[in-house]
Amino acid sequence: MLSTNNYDIIIAGGGLSGLSLAWNLAKKGYKKKVLVVDSTFAPGNKKTWCFWDSSSPPFANIIYKSWRKTYFSAPEFDSFLYMNKYQYHCIRESDFKEHVLTELKKHSNFTLLEENVLDFSSNKNKAAMVTKSSETFLADYIFQSIFEPKSKKKVKYPLIQHFYGLEIKTSVPVFDPGCFTIMDFDESFSDGTAFTYVLPFLNNRALVEYTVFSRKVFDTKKEYKEKVRSYLKERYNLEKDDYEIKRKEYGEIPMSDKVYPITYTDRIFNIGTSGGLTKASTGYTFLRIQKFVDELSNNLLAGNSITSPELSKARFKYYDLLLLHILDKQSTTSVRVFRDLFKNNSIDKVFDFLSEDTNFLEDIKIMSSVPPMPFIRAISRNPKL
Ligand SMILES: Cc1cc2nc3c(=O)[nH]c(=O)nc-3n(C[C@H](O)[C@H](O)[C@H](O)COP(=O)(O)OP(=O)(O)OC[C@H]3O[C@@H](n4cnc5c(N)ncnc54)[C@H](O)[C@@H]3O)c2cc1C
Repeated sequence: MLSTNNYDIIIAGGGLSGLSLAWNLAKKGYKKKVLVVDSTFAPGNKKTWCFWDSSSPPFANIIYKSWRKTYFSAPEFDSFLYMNKYQYHCIRESDFKEHVLTELKKHSNFTLLEENVLDFSSNKNKAAMVTKSSETFLADYIFQSIFEPKSKKKVKYPLIQHFYGLEIKTSVPVFDPGCFTIMDFDESFSDGTAFTYVLPFLNNRALVEYTVFSRKVFDTKKEYKEKVRSYLKERYNLEKDDYEIKRKEYGEIPMSDKVYPITYTDRIFNIGTSGGLTKASTGYTFLRIQKFVDELSNNLLAGNSITSPELSKARFKYYDLLLLHILDKQSTTSVRVFRDLFKNNSIDKVFDFLSEDTNFLEDIKIMSSVPPMPFIRAISRNPKL
């Protein structure tokens, strides 16, 4: 007899990738038994996921805010940039969780379990998950986004995108809710590449985030907070008492050449950030997760074998590697590369390129619009992938 702890699939980690996979399976009519486990399903609001899209964005009905205009600022160039092809969208974690969990509760073959996962194991026939309360759950496959798998290759550029933001409410209108700030570089910072990112939701409410690309995070959150506060003073003339902090957001996203293995062990697959779905040179992950779980859910429904995601063509992986080299070795040069990228190309073209949606000729055109020497040096240090 089958134990009640037996499932066809276990989705371990009910964050962005786990819930997106569950959502896809449920909406596409998957009828087998699925267990979704997370330490908590409480609708926290620790993240805002942003992405650009040119057609019909995923989760369109819970998009919190969209923009077509952005502000970019680097030494010797600053400009308002207008998107024609794309829109930049933002989804709040709390809305996403509530939306997906409400849907999953309508499907009797989906079970939600709030538990801490301790470990996985597997053999040729089954995968097992052990929780903190010492229960074991079995399945044909586990898709996990909890533990980071070990890299098979030495990591050359272990960069981190680390950021800290304050969502603030001001008593008077100060923001233009029609224009977000994509990058406002901090020239004074030299231990990496740093900029501020601003998402204005209303004319008196915005998320203002200090972001750094470097090898090491700051020692304390206070250091980031001071950067945000001085930005608010400099750019918006806002003193501490002029705003109320409604929410804080801190994050670390890997930006590295780490090669993520597709499987954790037999029958246990890595998804999300743990599955290497982050674009190494930008940290953007949201849309790549959506693309991956769409394909994965189609394969599961069709009973096909599960294959490794081919999200990036080799040449784009190589461009990422070159950019990582520049970000790691030369922070002032990195800023010049970003400056010329945004100065000499339309923002739609930049997004095409970062979405890996350009052809080789377009790549050459874009790359010849930025300083060549840093790339030549990066190529000499990285003759191949
Ligand atoms: C603050 C922040 C903002 C971001 N913003 C963007 C953005 O704007 N655009 C973009 O493209 N990318 C963004 N990212 C990157 C990426 O999209 C997110 O990190 C995304 O959440 C990754 O999805 P995931 O499923 O891999 O991990 P998660 O969403 O973190 O899911 C992992 C889940 O595992 C659960 N878990 C962990 N340990 C255990 C355990 N032992 N037992 C049970 N459950 C456990 C956690 O509770 C969590 O729900 C952001 C990242 C952060 C940290």
